[in-house]
Amino acid sequence: MRDDEANLNKDRLALALEAAGLDLWENDLVTGAVTRKATKTFAELGFTEEEIASAVPDIYGLFHPDDVDTVRQAVADHLAGVTPQYRCEFRLRSKQGEWVWFANYGRIMDTHTATPGRRLIGVTFNIDDRKRREDEIAQINQQLVEQNRLLQQLNATLELLAAKDSLTGLCNRRTLMELGANECKRAERFGHPLSVLVVDIDFFKAVNDAWGHFSGDRMICAVANVCAARRRSGVDIVARFGGEEFVIVLPETDSASALRAAEALRAEVASMSVPVNDEGVHLSVTVSIGVSTGLPGREYSFEALVNRADHALYQAKGTGRNTVYCADLP
Ligand code: GH3
Ligand code: MG
Ligand code: MG
Repeated sequence: MRDDEANLNKDRLALALEAAGLDLWENDLVTGAVTRKATKTFAELGFTEEEIASAVPDIYGLFHPDDVDTVRQAVADHLAGVTPQYRCEFRLRSKQGEWVWFANYGRIMDTHTATPGRRLIGVTFNIDDRKRREDEIAQINQQLVEQNRLLQQLNATLELLAAKDSLTGLCNRRTLMELGANECKRAERFGHPLSVLVVDIDFFKAVNDAWGHFSGDRMICAVANVCAARRRSGVDIVARFGGEEFVIVLPETDSASALRAAEALRAEVASMSVPVNDEGVHLSVTVSIGVSTGLPGREYSFEALVNRADHALYQAKGTGRNTVYCADLP
């Protein structure tokens, strides 16, 4: 190749490299000498021409400690023929001590000469902006994951709140009707009896009138706690039906057992002395309970079962309160 043509090619290459923001380097793998230094990269890192010419001899000294192994491995893989090109990304320390991201693309030269694989040639280019954007995106993704987790938590809390009665923490009427209907289907499928108690505080209005609404609330909570404490965990459903009225669903329970459960509940409530204010006023309380039982082989809806228990409750009230009445017994 003529000299002027060779010079023209050199100029073309230099222009193309500059336009692409690439910095050409070359190492002699036999002697270890840097036969062409990546001057643009060192200039970008803040080193003067003299420093570039004399100092920065140990390039690995400028690498981020976490990236040294990555770079060494990428070189080794390429020299061993594992990778067709040498490619890696790494951080270099600037003269001011900041870390700047660069990438190296290179390959072995002289594969067909007498000293094959003598030279490793390649380019270095700045990828700091891209890396920072990737970091930002990773951070944003992390935040989105965290926000999603919080939203799921919030949703679960909202669902829980929507299912619960806010005063007593028991199931609310909506949840009761859903769970109760399921229990009816289960009872029908497996041929079990299913009982329902409707529990109502006696003369409750008088408590409200005499001691105020908040005292009434405390009494509602006290009765709710007794109902909840007596439930068979994971089996019975205890709900606040409204006002001072509770519904208890007793799966796999016949009317005799339901009657016994209702009687025990009535007795426990009647033995209570409920603190209804902070001044130390305690009041006695009684409940009346209506019981109904859906029998195997008979078709019934949960609503019908509750209605029957409610009807039994009025019978109980009619007998003077603090009593239990069972709709299914003669
Ligand atoms: P009975 O012996 O026949 O059951 O009479 P009662 O006074 O208990 O029943 P009534 O239905 O007349 O009164 C229920 C009262 O409960 C009426 C209503 O103002 C009150 N109430 C409803 N919800 C609440 C509540 O959340 N808190 C309080 N403190 N009172 C409530
Ligand atoms: Mg009442
Ligand atoms: Mg009532």
